[in-house]
Parts: sequence; structure tokens; C-alpha cells
Amino acid sequence: AIPLVIAISTTLSATHGLLIRNRTAFENARKLTTIIFDKTGTLTKGSHEVQQIIPIGDQFSSDQILQYAAAIQQNSEHHIAHGVMRKLKEKGLELWASADFNYMQGIGVTGTVNNKKVVAAGPNYFIQENNPVPAIPDQVDQATDTVNFILIDGKTVGIITFADTIRESAAQAVAELKKMNIKTFLLTGDNEKIAEAVSRKLNMDGYLANVLPHQKQDKVKEFQDKGEIVAMTGDGVNDAPALAQADVGIAVGSGTDVAAETADIILVNSDPMDVVQMITFGRATYRKMV
Ligand code: ADP
Ligand code: MG
Repeated sequence: AIPLVIAISTTLSATHGLLIRNRTAFENARKLTTIIFDKTGTLTKGSHEVQQIIPIGDQFSSDQILQYAAAIQQNSEHHIAHGVMRKLKEKGLELWASADFNYMQGIGVTGTVNNKKVVAAGPNYFIQENNPVPAIPDQVDQATDTVNFILIDGKTVGIITFADTIRESAAQAVAELKKMNIKTFLLTGDNEKIAEAVSRKLNMDGYLANVLPHQKQDKVKEFQDKGEIVAMTGDGVNDAPALAQADVGIAVGSGTDVAAETADIILVNSDPMDVVQMITFGRATYRKMV
């Protein structure tokens, strides 16, 4: 009778947007004390529409900055890259060729365009090399916009900003989890101001910003070492180690294959409320068994 209960529940879950890849992890879902949400993709849509293109210095126009960025972003599957490609298309600008594409996980991308070395990256790029982050013009609201720097031959020549949208059901999911006595934290490679703003808007228990991919895994472990049973949600390649470390690794359906392959559970509809569903199902299923 026990496998039947689980089988029924797994089927139920599938019809409710949950794909359970690892039963043991699903069983742990009822014991969760903490859920760590990766900002982009689960709590937000990962829509990343370009807001502003701001040249720094007068070497390159905003269109050229976008073209350099697009040339190296065309091989990236990050939300930021998709935003850049949409903007290029919208403006009807030519897509330039690039070579030597390299993805610096959780930091940015590099490549060679027109014989120039081009970098598109977030503030982490400077922070990890102990260099000062270039000044960000006042017209940028860092609490709402993700800031990307464009460097050509080592010099910062422009800034591109992106706005993402918080999913409608994110606040409801956090509120429901609170009722279940589960703490929620935001974990992101993005900047402090935006992390603070999103976690405050959603009434979460806290946030961790500017976290590099390998540090995401360490953060999950730190919670576990304090005795917490931890679920982690994520959508990117760089979230995979943290998903593997968590007691329950949850991938967002709209994310990358690597995240999905590492995860225990996949949220097919990318809906944060499905995390609540998952715990409700987990509790119901294993209650019937005892
Ligand atoms: P999150 O933790 O919000 O999911 P990521 O770990 O995917 O974010 O990325 C962290 C930061 O690294 C981004 O906010 C961005 O600044 C930078 N970054 C990652 N990928 C790219 C890319 N393809 N192009 C430019 N910047 C990137
Ligand atoms: Mg991510």
C-alpha cells in the first residue's frame, strides 16, 4: 500500500506542476525549516528588459555598446543575454560576430569582437578582483534595476541596466510558507540594493547578495550546519552546486537543463506557489503512511 500512496501522490503532483525526480528528497519536503530562493527565475520572471544604455566616456555610442554586448551575449543563455538580444532586434541593429566566448559563472561573459576584448559583467567582476566598482550614474535606480558593465580592452565604456518583474504569486508563497513555520531567504549574485528591495517587498526573513556560484553552495551548507533542513530553488547553471547541496533541490521549469538535471523536484510552471503545493503534498503523502 505504501508505494501506491506515493505513486498516487506523484501523479497528483505532476498534474499540479511538480515533477518529482527524487523520492527521498520529496519525503524530506515535509521536514523543511528553511527555503532559500534564488532571486532570478523563481521569485522573479527573469524577464530582464533593457532599461537604459549609458555610454561612459565618448568613445562609443549607446547603439555600439549594445552591439558589442550582443556580439558576446549571443552564446549565453542567461536572462541578461536574452534581454540584450531582444533589444538589439527591437532596434534593428546588426548582430556582429564574436570569437573566444567565455562564461564566467555568476559574473558575466567575455569574447573578442572586431579584434577587441569585450566583457559584459555585473559588479562581481570588479569585486572578485578587488578592484573598485565603477561609479553608477544617479539616473539608475539600483533597487529596481540590475546593472551590467561593458568593458572594451579593459576599459569600462558603458552601462546597460535591466528590469525584472516579481512574479504575482511570490508574496503569497512567502506568506503561506511563513504560516507553515518555514523561513525564507533570498540568495542572489545580484547587488545588495536590489536584493534588499525584493526581500523587503516579499516580506522574507533575509537576503544574501553578491554571492558567487561556489559561495551559493557554502551558504546552503551554513544553514544546514545550524540544523536547518533546507530547500533551494534555482534556474541557472551556476545554481546547480547549491541545488545538489540542499536537502531538497528545486529547479524552475523555465531554467537551464543543468539545473533541472541536478534538481530533486522541478517546478514545471515556474510558479513559486508550487513550492507550497510540494510541501502540502509531502506532508499529506507521508502522514498517510504512518
Ligand atoms: P542570480 O543569483 O540572481 O540568479 P546569477 O548568479 O545568474 O544571478 O548572476 C549573478 C550576476 O552575474 C548577474 O546579476 C549579472 O550581474 C552577472 N551575470 C551572470 N551572467 C551574465 C551574463 N551572461 N552577462 C552579463 N552578466 C552576467
Ligand atoms: Mg540564477
